[in-house]
Amino acid sequence: MKKMEKFRKLGLSENVIDILRSMGFENPSEIQEKAIPFALEGRNILGTSMTGSGKTLAFSSAIIERIVPEKIIKALVLVPTRELAEQVSEAIKKFSKGNLKVIAVYGGVNIQNQMRQMRGTDVLVGTPGRILDHLNRQVLRLNKVEILVLDEFDRMLDMGFAHDVGKIIDSCPKERQTMLFSATNSPDIDHLVKRYMPNSVNVSVESYVDHSKLEQVYYDVPDSLKFPLLVNLLKEESSHLVMIFCSTRRNADFVVANLNNIGINAKAIHGGLDQKKRINVLNEFHENKGLNILVCTDIAARGLDIKGVTHIYNYDLPAVSKDYIHRIGRTARAGKEGKAVNILSQRDYDNFSNITKREEVDIKEVKLPFLERIELIKPKRNFGGRSSGGGDFGRRSPVRRSSGGKSPVRRSPRRNSSREDNFGRRGSRSAPRSSGRGSSGRSQGRSFGRRRNFDSIRS
Ligand code: AMP
Repeated sequence: MKKMEKFRKLGLSENVIDILRSMGFENPSEIQEKAIPFALEGRNILGTSMTGSGKTLAFSSAIIERIVPEKIIKALVLVPTRELAEQVSEAIKKFSKGNLKVIAVYGGVNIQNQMRQMRGTDVLVGTPGRILDHLNRQVLRLNKVEILVLDEFDRMLDMGFAHDVGKIIDSCPKERQTMLFSATNSPDIDHLVKRYMPNSVNVSVESYVDHSKLEQVYYDVPDSLKFPLLVNLLKEESSHLVMIFCSTRRNADFVVANLNNIGINAKAIHGGLDQKKRINVLNEFHENKGLNILVCTDIAARGLDIKGVTHIYNYDLPAVSKDYIHRIGRTARAGKEGKAVNILSQRDYDNFSNITKREEVDIKEVKLPFLERIELIKPKRNFGGRSSGGGDFGRRSPVRRSSGGKSPVRRSPRRNSSREDNFGRRGSRSAPRSSGRGSSGRSQGRSFGRRRNFDSIRS
């Protein structure tokens, strides 16, 4: 088949095909193949896919092919984070080749300037909080919106945007096309679809993870050896770009401070940094400016489209499996190989059990290497709040040898086993099911996922 022919078959116009060709696109991705024909027909769509799958073009196709620019907001794209707002608005600008005025709005920047920029906008991309703010100030009207996109919707729910999103939807005309994209499904999403998206079609990509390209491993270590193991792996593994995930800002800062202290260049992005700093760090990271290691929290890293990430380290295991799926989705993209490394200590056992219940999660245990002693420092900042347990501050990690890949259940309790965890519980944790050396971790652990109640959305 001729190059670009598949895009043509989906119903895209020659103009758009030329633009895609100039961007180096040759064939549609799976989600594009499935969603674009419906998007162009104006159907409501529930799409299950994550960043990296090409979903931005999937929903943008409707915007760029169907919106006639009239300097009035006709398409609204809601996204969970500022970074994603910038990324999606840039993508739509490119896809429309300047034909549409696309503006990104989000909190943390001057609202007056934003109001001025919004004048004459055709496509508004933004975070729910700031858009609601503009609506409340009556400087934004959405009564001409023809296309509404809810992108990374599961994350918007996680971030507590359900109510804001409901109010924004209510400000749009009832006659419109709505496309909702989410990496995971939930009863809350089904509820929203029933309520706001009649006759919608479901499109989903089969698997979140390409097992032939992504290797998932875990190490089971005492808490005090998490950092030495991380350093060992960073030095031993041949990598390009590396993302290290922590569950809290505090832990992210702890990891960065200690990596820097031993001469390893790394920077953090998390919600505690202002927008300018986050953008600078991100640019340094993905524009190959010498920063190869990014330490981040889930929220800050959500949805980022960074090419060339070869390794994901989970310094803390995430509490919910969909965060794990999002994390590992940062690597092994566009046919490239990737590795997800889980550094598991007792405080992660419950989370690990929860994560490994999912079908697509198949994590092999790896034997601990010999680890060098590393002096740990405490970051300069004075942190408020409590940690989810990065707190090795000021302690010295003893020189220890590998225990030879023992199963987590055979370990003796750690000294910090009574530390309070993310969920405010105390007490020693149950280990994930014994998977034994070299086996894959799948378990029957308890589920700690939070339930969100969609009834908070007003119709
Ligand atoms: P997305 O999941 O929409 O954030 O897209 C992830 C990355 O894949 C972006 O850098 C896109 O520019 C790129 N991309 C999306 N669709 C295609 C395609 N059909 N061919 C090549 N690259 C693509």
